[in-house]
Amino acid sequence: MTGASAGNLYKRVLLKVSGEALMGGGEYGLDPATLSAIAADIRDVFELGAEICLVIGGGNIFRGIAAAAKGMDRAQGDYAGMLATVINALAMQNALERIGVPTRVMSAIPMSSVAEPYIRRRAVRHMEKGRLVIFAAGTGNPFFTTDTAAALRAAEMDCDALFKGTQVDGVYSADPRKHADAVRHDELSYLDVLSRDLNVMDASAISLARENRLPIIVFNIHAPGAFAQVMRGHGPFTRIVERQ
Ligand code: UDP
Repeated sequence: MTGASAGNLYKRVLLKVSGEALMGGGEYGLDPATLSAIAADIRDVFELGAEICLVIGGGNIFRGIAAAAKGMDRAQGDYAGMLATVINALAMQNALERIGVPTRVMSAIPMSSVAEPYIRRRAVRHMEKGRLVIFAAGTGNPFFTTDTAAALRAAEMDCDALFKGTQVDGVYSADPRKHADAVRHDELSYLDVLSRDLNVMDASAISLARENRLPIIVFNIHAPGAFAQVMRGHGPFTRIVERQ
């Protein structure tokens, strides 16, 4: 069954999950229940026939490193941050494989004992063969973020959309957790996000998505079943596209 015949609007997608989304109620680290819940939602979409790749951030581990490493060179700290994303990628791989989703971790920093090196054509092949690919170590370069890595890999993989799983169900006019009258945008242009400095993804990620006409879908990663719903175009989310 193809993604389209299962009612999905997108055949191949990249899902970006920040490290902080994996902390659950904690202040840092990984919460196994949260990891399992996100993995189960990913499996539901995977089982409907979509090709999925993931980029996981490292903020849940890296903020701790950053505090401990005050005074460390920026680039050195960033390499530590990229290693944090590898830890999260392995944890997510474990959570997915436990529930029957075949996965491969590909690292932008070669680490042959724990992950495959990132090779674009090989990643595409994995997805065509029905494996979910987790991209670890960001772009492999300091001074970037995993948001930019997500936009880059989504463009390289020729994904139909970049899904950004966040703590709220879209982009609001103000922080909905602080302002009860905040309204959610259904659709924004890349330029709206850039010019209004909306806190969605960093500017280089938005620009890269714009250049490649890659729609960004912002939705709540913690709402059970939301990923599958949004894949079919239902439920609350914000779509970022080029306005006609
Ligand atoms: N990082 C980097 N290059 C990349 C991706 C990540 O140097 O291509 C480093 C950077 O220090 C970043 C950290 O890894 O702060 C963790 O990634 P990020 O902050 O994007 O994770 P998230 O906030 O999504 O959990």
